Parts: sequence; structure tokens; C-alpha cells
Amino acid sequence: MPLCSLTLCCHIGFRLNRTTDKRQVNTCLIWSHMSCKHLNNLTAETLISKANYPIFRCEECTRINSRWVHLRICQTCGKMLCCDSSEHQHARRHYEETGHPIVSSAELGEQWLWCFVHQQGKDY
Ligand SMILES: [Zn+2]
Ligand SMILES: [Zn+2]
Ligand SMILES: [Zn+2]
Repeated sequence: MPLCSLTLCCHIGFRLNRTTDKRQVNTCLIWSHMSCKHLNNLTAETLISKANYPIFRCEECTRINSRWVHLRICQTCGKMLCCDSSEHQHARRHYEETGHPIVSSAELGEQWLWCFVHQQGKDY
């Protein structure tokens, strides 16, 4: 199976999904072939929602008195950590240390998940 072209299509699918109509992507066969098992196991009903958090802050940045750009939520343990644009990239480091694969965006108005293992995103 030519993995590289499938990955490319998957990324196009993700971009389409974010800008246009969700149904377009859900009917794309290649997208569903590429969907990772981590993302497939998470739905809007089962994911750890940002609505559960009274305070929005990166746990690790708060400890070392640093700042962050955007916030992500680990969907395995619920830690709220900072994004790749942040100086310390705590969400990515958390994945590297624990293997917890999925983060969701904790930003207002954003409803997407990202799998670090498969480098794939999904809207919910
Ligand atoms: Zn995955
Ligand atoms: Zn941080
Ligand atoms: Zn975690």
C-alpha cells in the first residue's frame, strides 16, 4: 500500500474538514482507511471536554512560572498542557514521556483532536 499518498490525502481531508463540510470527509474512503484507531475510539460523547476545566492553564508552565500560547488536553489522563507553538511544548513532551497519543484543543471555538503517533487530526 503506498502509504505516502494516503497520508497526503489524509492531510488534504483534514484541511477540507476544517474549512468546509464534515460530510465530505466522512465519505472519503481513503480518509477512513487512514483513520487511526486512537481517533476512531474517541467521539464527542467519550472525549474529555474542555467544559470540565474551571481554570485554563498549562499545568507544567504554571509550575515553572512560564507562559504558553495555546492549550491542549491529553485525552488519556486529562492533563491540560501547552501546544507546539509554546516555548516548552509540554503536550508534545507529555506524549514523548507517557505515550498518551491524543490531545484535543482546549481553545474556545475549536473542536479537534490530534494523534501524535499517526500525526493525524480529526474534527468532532
Ligand atoms: Zn493514532
Ligand atoms: Zn507548558
Ligand atoms: Zn496524558
